[in-house]
Amino acid sequence: MRPYLLAETNWKAIKKADFRLAVLPWGATEAHNYHLPYSTDNILADRIAAEAARLAFKRGGKVIVLPTIPFGVNTGQPDVKFDMNLNPGTQLMILKDLITVLDRQDIHKLVILNTHGGNDFKQIIRELNLLFPEMFICQCNWFKIPGAERYFEDNGEHAGEVETSFMQYLTPELVLPLSEAGEGKARVFSVDALNEEWAWAERKWTKVTKDTGIGNPALATAEKGEAFFKLITEKIGDFLYELAVVNPDHLYKEK
Ligand SMILES: [Zn+2]
Repeated sequence: MRPYLLAETNWKAIKKADFRLAVLPWGATEAHNYHLPYSTDNILADRIAAEAARLAFKRGGKVIVLPTIPFGVNTGQPDVKFDMNLNPGTQLMILKDLITVLDRQDIHKLVILNTHGGNDFKQIIRELNLLFPEMFICQCNWFKIPGAERYFEDNGEHAGEVETSFMQYLTPELVLPLSEAGEGKARVFSVDALNEEWAWAERKWTKVTKDTGIGNPALATAEKGEAFFKLITEKIGDFLYELAVVNPDHLYKEK
């Protein structure tokens, strides 16, 4: 029974415990090439949040992890069977309800720990900040943490070498042999600017990839997954600890 996971702890412990920071893991339910389960992003959300919170808690950070939200923004994949979509507007409503609870109970810091590329909470957080002036709300995207190139040949983006390695390490029983996986070959836009960061359009997923993957999983191994999992959970663990202990009045400093 881990005291920093709400799903595992109980009222007896929670009643007298003091928490400063809540972590809300947020995944998605979607196809991940042929070889990874639909719950890949949720498993990563559960496991990254639990390990990072364990590290922060061990140092004295009063951190509590809420249960993972299992559906994400999949507006670009309505034609992929069982890619379940939550619109960004729905995500805003969910966050508004959950933050109302935290705000009333004096837990004024929230990290949305995101594991799905289609989720982007930036604009939603801006809107929530106006509604909850006492809250500090931020998002954390593990896939933006630098360092993957130290372990992987083909970082990929979706069900590629990185995510596959993680899953081989965390839940090997849910990963098909790599001989079953597609190559994760992806097409790009024919209008060049849309392939650069400064112009953006949503991709119609089934026009981009045949096997739903983006990035080749062929070189994935559990060992690489373990090493990179350690790197990102230590980094996120430090972040959660620092955020849990920081005085909200001291969130800024001179450069
Ligand atoms: Zn994924």
